Amino acid sequence: MTQRIPIAVAYGDGIGPEIMKATLDIIQTAGANIEIETVEIGEKVYLRGIETGMDPNAWELLRRTKVFLKAPITTPQGGGYKSLNVTTRKALGLYANVRPSVSYSPFVHTKHPVMNVVIIRENEEDLYAGIEHRQTDQVYQCLKLITRPGSEKVIRYAFEYARANGRKKVTCFVKDNIMKLTDGLFHKVFDETAAAYPDIENELWIVDIGAAKLADTPEHFDVIVMPNLYGDVLSDVAAQIAGSVGLAGSSNIGEQCAMFEAIHGSAPRRAGQNLANPSGLLLAAVMMLVHIGQSEVAARVHNAWLKTIEDGIHTYDIFKEGVSRQKAGTAEFAAAVIRRLGDVPSVLTPVSYEVSHSLSLWQKNGHHKKAEKRLVGVDVFLDWEQGSPDDLGSALSQVSMESLQLQVITNRGVKVWPNGLPETFCTDHWRCRFLSNEGQVIAPGHVVELLKRVTESCFDNIKTENLYLFDGVPGFSAVHG
Ligand code: NAD
Repeated sequence: MTQRIPIAVAYGDGIGPEIMKATLDIIQTAGANIEIETVEIGEKVYLRGIETGMDPNAWELLRRTKVFLKAPITTPQGGGYKSLNVTTRKALGLYANVRPSVSYSPFVHTKHPVMNVVIIRENEEDLYAGIEHRQTDQVYQCLKLITRPGSEKVIRYAFEYARANGRKKVTCFVKDNIMKLTDGLFHKVFDETAAAYPDIENELWIVDIGAAKLADTPEHFDVIVMPNLYGDVLSDVAAQIAGSVGLAGSSNIGEQCAMFEAIHGSAPRRAGQNLANPSGLLLAAVMMLVHIGQSEVAARVHNAWLKTIEDGIHTYDIFKEGVSRQKAGTAEFAAAVIRRLGDVPSVLTPVSYEVSHSLSLWQKNGHHKKAEKRLVGVDVFLDWEQGSPDDLGSALSQVSMESLQLQVITNRGVKVWPNGLPETFCTDHWRCRFLSNEGQVIAPGHVVELLKRVTESCFDNIKTENLYLFDGVPGFSAVHG
């Protein structure tokens, strides 16, 4: 027998221990060649005063095993607790969240009988960087960060995943008609990456109409890749319209490590009653088995599970009179899957996994040519509520310098000076754009000098953003209005 693959296992909270036991019973009976190393996470750890919800020693174990099968946890009520999921994804660099949503019609009720979509969500960036500020009495901000390497990693992973899993098309969802720089970068990287995969069809949708299409006609889609927030929302929508969030598993893939979990939470009200559906975690464990190269065991487990669903043996959450044959508890459901190991479904499509598909993943490219960056201006943000936009414009024109002239003032992104409209609603948060003459390069000292003049004129400067040209192209959005 080949050496067992060590995996870290967390039993979690609520229904976690029951569904983890069921999952491990099934995969071990199926022949998974794994060595289980248990880690403690979740509520008990939080309540011991560890704000990340995971014992510090557990990180060592995760870094050693590199594979983590995790049951859901309960985040205690009240503030101050950090999300264990967000911390784990970021600390271990798990950049791609893979969430398949499949319908099992006619055995599990769904309005979309033909649905087999995999959403690949960027997992580390976007609005999840956790960089938020209150800037004025009225205004709060959250920074949306999209990076080139972050986008390249997840988009490349989506195409590699499609190729390795016999998928035909990768779709990208963005909102780059509005967020031209951030989502625009994601779109650009998608086009560049797609060009390297001529065997895979590619298409791009603006996320609003794309989401509507996904909810209405999910059979149109195959693999969909998207930035973090859209992926967070739409992967739950996809799982729910396929039949139930209780059936969906997910993987979180990094360059070194990977984490596998159900997409649902710890359902505390169902805990300890042998009621919960272990399917989400079991399908996550199937993804884990494929990841560690035990594809045959993965297929055996997955097919036995499909046969159990097809035979109408259902937990309470998907039980339907007239369709289901037997209402099973967690343990009975697991026993039913175990009895069917070796069987394949006859109505639902059986799965098979390639024995080994090594993915050609993103690698740091040392040859990337850095763009030439030239400073041409500065956006000065003010907390101010002493008059009209015209008052502010004339006062600030006085502090302009020869090298940096006031060009425009916006409030919540809408131009209010010069020639604003009196109807535009204004808050206490003003963005004042100073630019050099005809895009001339300026020294950082000019910005410092301007800020000195702004402060000396008793303006409350809350932040600045330098305005650069990158290879001659503005690295800042134009002003609306
Ligand atoms: P939840 O997913 O736990 O439950 C939502 C609903 O789905 C409930 O009605 C529940 O009974 C049902 N349900 C969920 N999983 C089920 C299963 N396997 N079988 C049968 N029914 C199931 O979401 P919630 O109630 O919003 O959150 C409960 C706790 O879980 C919270 O503390 C939350 O922070 C945590 N949570 C953890 C994770 C995670 O660890 N990955 C994810 C989401 C929520």
